[in-house]
Amino acid sequence: MHYQPKKDLLQNRIILVTGASDGIGREAALTYARHGARLILLGRNEDKLRDVAQAIASEGGAPTREYILDLLTCTPESCRELAGRIATEYPRLDGVLHNAGLLGEVCPMDEQNPEIWQQVMQVNVNGTFFLTQALLPLLLQSDSGSLVFTSSSVGRQGRANWGAYAASKFATEGMMQVLAEEYQSRHLRVNCINPGGTRTSMRASAFPSEDPLKLKTPADIMPLYLWLMGDDSRRKTGMTFDAQPGRKPGISQ
Ligand code: NDP
Repeated sequence: MHYQPKKDLLQNRIILVTGASDGIGREAALTYARHGARLILLGRNEDKLRDVAQAIASEGGAPTREYILDLLTCTPESCRELAGRIATEYPRLDGVLHNAGLLGEVCPMDEQNPEIWQQVMQVNVNGTFFLTQALLPLLLQSDSGSLVFTSSSVGRQGRANWGAYAASKFATEGMMQVLAEEYQSRHLRVNCINPGGTRTSMRASAFPSEDPLKLKTPADIMPLYLWLMGDDSRRKTGMTFDAQPGRKPGISQ
């Protein structure tokens, strides 16, 4: 995507990123901070989150807050409790990037371990839904809220061996479409990003034989992440955007 964001695109915006500790989420948090946003970092690993917060601080970004939430074990209650704590420190949320995700096993359906299947569904769908439900009141306090889910090409077209992950991303797309319609007359837009093959540890575990240098980095795909959080995408809702349009799904040759 060719998008030239203004340096102050996200000035005074309060943005929460899940899975902010690594990969695409880490990069998104740093990028949003560079464009003026106040970041709320969510993850399950305190040390890694603190490292991201320090990186933001060292670049002169606005003060951040880190909150621990393990999507594998979270419940509607723990998500509401977290949202309550956030509400004591922040008046609203202008953006939420649901980025955290679990790959699970890449193998045929008849070999998918049911326990891991449930874990993938819990992290990618159920936990993400519990958190969304808890954060909606804060998002509705914004005059231009943006709720962004993270999908995948296998969330639009099923592919052999992608089992629980593909099913969870179809569910993510569905959740986004339902919410977008429910909030279309309010100040809240709801969309999905499909990052496309990106150089992260999740990608490396899905395609261990792939040369990572053939892949875009998280930094390369940030223009779309910025556009969806800023005012330039204000009228868009209910859509899935490719961060790497035209890229063929699958292994990079
Ligand atoms: P990474 O594995 O690099 O990062 C995943 C992030 O999610 C990490 O911050 C991780 O935390 C967090 N996370 C995982 N499980 C949990 C959990 N139980 N509770 C809280 N946080 C958790 O993945 P990517 O950056 O590659 O992926 C980001 C998103 O993009 C995912 O939704 C993925 O499905 C999607 N995607 C990625 C593609 C790619 O090619 N990279 C392609 C298409 C979609 P921790 O640091 O503690 O491990």
